[in-house]
Amino acid sequence: MQVYNTQTHRKQELKSIEPGKIRMYVCGPTVYDQIHIGNARTFLSFDVIRRYLMYKGYEVTFAQNLTDVDDKIINRANEEGRTAAEVAEEYSNAFIEQMHRFGILDPDIRPRATQEIAAMQEMIQTLIDQGYAYAADNGDVYFSVRSDPEYGILSGRNLDQLRAGERVEVNDEKRDPFDFALWKAAKPGEPSWPSPWGEGRPGWHTECCAMIHRYLGTPIDIHGGGADLVFPHHENETAQASCAWHKPLANLWMHTGMLRVDGEKMSKSLGNFYTLKEVLDKYPADAVRLLMLQTHYRAPLDFSFDRLDGTVGTLERMRTCVKNLRWAAEKGNAATTDAGSTLGAACEEAKVEFCRQMDDDFNTAGGLAAIFSLVTAANTFLASGEGSTDATAATRAADLIVELCGVLGITPEAQEEQGLPHELVDLAARYAGYTGDSADEAADVLIKARQDARSQKNWALADGIRDAITGLGLVLEDTAAGCRLRRP
Ligand code: AMP
Ligand code: ZN
Repeated sequence: MQVYNTQTHRKQELKSIEPGKIRMYVCGPTVYDQIHIGNARTFLSFDVIRRYLMYKGYEVTFAQNLTDVDDKIINRANEEGRTAAEVAEEYSNAFIEQMHRFGILDPDIRPRATQEIAAMQEMIQTLIDQGYAYAADNGDVYFSVRSDPEYGILSGRNLDQLRAGERVEVNDEKRDPFDFALWKAAKPGEPSWPSPWGEGRPGWHTECCAMIHRYLGTPIDIHGGGADLVFPHHENETAQASCAWHKPLANLWMHTGMLRVDGEKMSKSLGNFYTLKEVLDKYPADAVRLLMLQTHYRAPLDFSFDRLDGTVGTLERMRTCVKNLRWAAEKGNAATTDAGSTLGAACEEAKVEFCRQMDDDFNTAGGLAAIFSLVTAANTFLASGEGSTDATAATRAADLIVELCGVLGITPEAQEEQGLPHELVDLAARYAGYTGDSADEAADVLIKARQDARSQKNWALADGIRDAITGLGLVLEDTAAGCRLRRP
């Protein structure tokens, strides 16, 4: 598998440190507000990378932090007359909720900065002891970039060519403008913790590095984030690790391209953002995933609602295809047909092509194209009229579409998976004395009760049951195998 490494500027063969295992870390959000869909793009990219690695058989350990102490959180708390901890708690929960809605798998480990102060202080002390960091008179502690001969190794920046730009906070306590704070002395009213250097709080770059060391051990296999984090955040993370423990922080650095609107990076500060929540309130998560995965994760992604409207249709086409394949399989039999053999060959090809594309630096756009080719082949099969006779081919194609979409976190059978509504349990209790709590069982009980009523010529009861079922927006369907209940 070839993966692009930001540090070497080229694709390289993925070789895990421990055979069959991958340890990966992706910088999490600063929890002061709802995240926007640019942030979500980065988290989605790594969700799919993680899912594909698992699909390939790796045992993946994935960690992602929550930055729950930061200037932005403190500012918001002050504006709203709340504590920073309250703001962080609210938006940590909001973040996790939106990640669930978006179908992002939970990390195995989700450390919070405020719970990891001891690990950070230990790392800072290690750096001071070895001469890579110094405590300033005001209680700040800085990393001395000049003391690290490798500084710039990730971003390729050369200190001598760098000027103290806007991104660097210049102050009198620093020996060099590019020195960065490992520990910030407390200001009145701010959250703080005791330390050997006085009351204070950790710097952002320090968090991730200390948490990675504590929970995953260094070096890890993959460290990820958005491309805007390469410098200074990741440069500073890796500098701390190599100076503190004399090992690289990560073997592979992966960075996602920026999501843009009208050619500009989506960001809170520019005000050109849509929150993930507002987009998911209006669109299915799978349509948003589909839109984002149609662009390679390293390329910039131009977002527009027109494009998103288009992907809703694409998603529908995929869902309809799977539904029709399932239907054909139910009606069909085990006979092999020419159309079925052609579809079988298309399945083989789609699976090989999907993996070939994903093995090439997680090319999800290519992977999706392989799935769409299979959808087209399946629609040809269904239209051939022979579809009704080759149940095996139909099932295989449906299963494969679901399997490959699953690697991308897309569920083309989502509606079915939603299952039947729980109200059926009440209906089954009312009409047939059902005492259980399963909607599926209740559906069977109701179907049987209706059939019994009909065979007893109790039309009023039979019709009453039917009306109650259709009143829930469900369809009662008579098939060769008997009656069934489904969502329309
Ligand atoms: P932040 O909370 O600002 O640290 O951002 C969380 C993650 O979202 C980081 O990995 C950022 O690199 C990433 N990110 C921020 N803006 C964008 C964007 N417009 N497109 C893609 N990723 C972004
Ligand atoms: Zn980080």
